[in-house]
Amino acid sequence: MATQNNFSRSLFNTEEFTFTFELVPGQGSGGRRVDRLLDFARQAHADGRIKALSITDNPGGHPALAPHAIGSEVRSIGIQPLLHFSLKDKNRNQIESHLFFYHRKGFSNLLILGGDFPRPGYYGQAKPVFDLDSVQTLCLMRDMEEGTYHSRAPHRNPDFAPIRFHRGCVVSPFKMTEAEQVWQYAKLLYKIRAGAHFIITQLGYDVCKFEELSRFLLEQEVTMPVLANVFVPSLTVARYMAKGQVPGIVFPDRLLAEIEQETERGDREARLVRAAKMVCVLRGLGFAGVHLGGNGLSFDDVRFIMDTSEEFTPQWDRYRADIHFPGGGTWYYYPPARTGACGRTRIGLRPGRHRAAQIPHRIMHRLLFSPPNLPSTLFGAFCRKCAHSRPATLLLRTLEKLIKDILFSCRMCGDCTLTDSTYLCPQSGCPKNLLNGACGGSRNEACEVFPDRACFWVRVYNRVDPAATLVQLGNLPHLPPKDWSLNQTSSWINFYCGRDHHHLPGASTRG
Ligand code: SF4
Repeated sequence: MATQNNFSRSLFNTEEFTFTFELVPGQGSGGRRVDRLLDFARQAHADGRIKALSITDNPGGHPALAPHAIGSEVRSIGIQPLLHFSLKDKNRNQIESHLFFYHRKGFSNLLILGGDFPRPGYYGQAKPVFDLDSVQTLCLMRDMEEGTYHSRAPHRNPDFAPIRFHRGCVVSPFKMTEAEQVWQYAKLLYKIRAGAHFIITQLGYDVCKFEELSRFLLEQEVTMPVLANVFVPSLTVARYMAKGQVPGIVFPDRLLAEIEQETERGDREARLVRAAKMVCVLRGLGFAGVHLGGNGLSFDDVRFIMDTSEEFTPQWDRYRADIHFPGGGTWYYYPPARTGACGRTRIGLRPGRHRAAQIPHRIMHRLLFSPPNLPSTLFGAFCRKCAHSRPATLLLRTLEKLIKDILFSCRMCGDCTLTDSTYLCPQSGCPKNLLNGACGGSRNEACEVFPDRACFWVRVYNRVDPAATLVQLGNLPHLPPKDWSLNQTSSWINFYCGRDHHHLPGASTRG
């Protein structure tokens, strides 16, 4: 674990309730927006209750002032920065380079997240990177801490002292459908195994979903601290979210109507009181703290929320109904009896509705890629022989491309993971090319980037073995990062020549 600081001491002290607040830098290196953020930091430091200011990293996929720029100024004011570390714009070498830089500069609290898909910037749409996902990045950080850094390249053994961070990860308990929610929890289990130290939730307003997350973690014997997100939207932002303009957020209609009425009667305090009630209920439910945020909030607003929540805390349970805004038709992991009045009855998980679609691919895979059966042995020998001849390699690669392009829209990544995603190709099917489960950006099963398409991982879930449970899914080994030296080569040859991920420790199949 990294050196302790005010934030980590508070977070890991079970007697203490931790407040953090989210700062959102925009485009530009200075100006009024930056001045306001620093002014907020100065007031927060003087107050002393906020233990960290989290600083977003190109939020919403837009270019913005880098988080460490504000982070270093916030720290010099005397308050701990919690830097968001978003993976959408960084390849693995840039990730490593940033980690060295942050460590050198003494930033020890990082929140690891995939990030929203990049939006248009200079001269148009930015190139999405997503080289490592959040699970793989957490593994990299753990390996950098434990001295188990792995490079497949010869003579590239690491030569650096271990570096340590307090590593946070995110989860959304607020997904509306079974497939999306199951992936959120399964991926959370991957992140925990990959070395996350704390969790911050996505924003949401369904108390039963907060309870569901707590109960799920308790059942999994996960004791790490969880900060619940308490976001205070203005009417403009609430309307924007309700229209589905923020990836992964389903904003409840009833809450929007309430905010509209409050705005109409000029009652600005109502949203702060609601936030204070949320804070005290979440405290009562056993969360380690809250992650506060909201556009246009001054420090006086935040002070009001903290003060009022203190007043409300002794009777927190009576405010539960006031701040509970479930979305209609939400799927809950636990049946109603265990989450109070929430939810529909759960009749077990129901993955595998379209499982039959992968049966022919499974049969072919077993025939050709499961030695020691005879066809696999012969095909393996053939592939290895082809690997020694350039024309034969080209011919086999062309054949593979032809077949797999028709069947799977193959992009010839050279390290096939079809068996790990129920014979659906993540390179062509997922715009973020995620290998270890869904991001948080889907909304009612629709993809964040192409809302007219189903989320790739929802499609995978619909083909998963119907006997699978969430915990089984979450306990599968995760896939390591792609080796880009294999790109545009034959995955068949790579498989049989021991070059792909199947030959690394812990290879898995989810099919
Ligand atoms: S080789 Fe790569 S790009 Fe082609 S189907 Fe397999 S995973 Fe997809």
